[in-house]
Amino acid sequence: MKAVAVFPRTKEVRVIEQEVPRMAEPDQVKLRILDIGLCGTDKEICAFAYGTPPAGSDYLVIGHESLGEVIEVGPAASRVNVGDLVVTTVRRPCPHPECRPCRAGYPDFCITGDYTERGIKGAHGFMTEEVVDHERYMHVVPPELRDVAVLTEPLTIAEKAANQARQIVDRLPWLKRDLQEEARRHNPTAVVLGAGPVGLLGAMKLMAAGWQTFVYALAPAPNPSSDIVEAIGGQYGSQGRIAVEKQKALFGHIHLIYEATGVSRLAFEAWKLLGPNSVFIFTGVPSLKGPIEVDTDLLMRNIVLKNQIIFGTVNASSEHFDEAIRDIGVFHQLWPGTLRALITSRSAPEEAPGVLLGNIGGIKNVVTFETSGGATEREQSR
Ligand SMILES: [Zn+2]
Ligand SMILES: [Zn+2]
Repeated sequence: MKAVAVFPRTKEVRVIEQEVPRMAEPDQVKLRILDIGLCGTDKEICAFAYGTPPAGSDYLVIGHESLGEVIEVGPAASRVNVGDLVVTTVRRPCPHPECRPCRAGYPDFCITGDYTERGIKGAHGFMTEEVVDHERYMHVVPPELRDVAVLTEPLTIAEKAANQARQIVDRLPWLKRDLQEEARRHNPTAVVLGAGPVGLLGAMKLMAAGWQTFVYALAPAPNPSSDIVEAIGGQYGSQGRIAVEKQKALFGHIHLIYEATGVSRLAFEAWKLLGPNSVFIFTGVPSLKGPIEVDTDLLMRNIVLKNQIIFGTVNASSEHFDEAIRDIGVFHQLWPGTLRALITSRSAPEEAPGVLLGNIGGIKNVVTFETSGGATEREQSR
């Protein structure tokens, strides 16, 4: 069966042939892969800035944003059935007994750094025809979400952030009550930095929860991302084109900033807009480009005098996958065409290296195994 792999030593990205995986343990499940989403992490792996093959392998099969269909179920697997659509989690726990987060089922909070991630770090990914994994890492998706369920994994970032932010808001009893009882009337304000898939899905999560949401990104409107922001009822502004009156109106009245660009300069600029008792959430991972000047006195004054909280968040745990699948269903009901518009291309696996190494733009580009003629080849390989 075919797979898309990177060879870090020879610096190649290509389609390879590899053996169909076998079920080795009773709680395992075999999937036929349908869709794989591509993101900045995949691009970095293909630029050899990132990505580690499994021990003993000279290549890494990429792909971590997956949607598959169950084709075989081990005797000890009881939750999924043949024909189910599933999204599989990415990170797997480290082996160290002293890592309490991993031992408790939260490898997204691993403290040793020895976790593995399918398609990224030390474990093959999902950009291949068939995959075997343990049932406990799989999350069932309702069939009506077939077209959009590949967006689940990038949405888990916002789900984990929302979960953490909720716990932080719990320290403010009046706000906690307002948000629970009348989010729309209370009209909390959020700014999302970045209009890629992570930013747009974060904006959808905020809008669905009744937040007034502003999305700031580099590209001037109109563009496909600004169309999406407007279609869900948010407001889009591009960098350097935020009207001064709007900036003034926002200043000090923002309850939450969700950073999804990895551009630290923009993040620290936007921070100044944050109001009292607010939260700044970092999700982007900037490449290291050397120090820049930041007004640290002003930021520190704000953090202290305005009771601000800043936190970073990476990856997600099992419950965030379930929440993401639920929210994909909510977004699909609220904005069916708009959610689908996040997926701007579908390519065959043979085209994946070109898509990853080129610059095709778009919002979420997807590799699909459905139209590649894979079915016939798969039958022959058995
Ligand atoms: Zn990704
Ligand atoms: Zn760990």
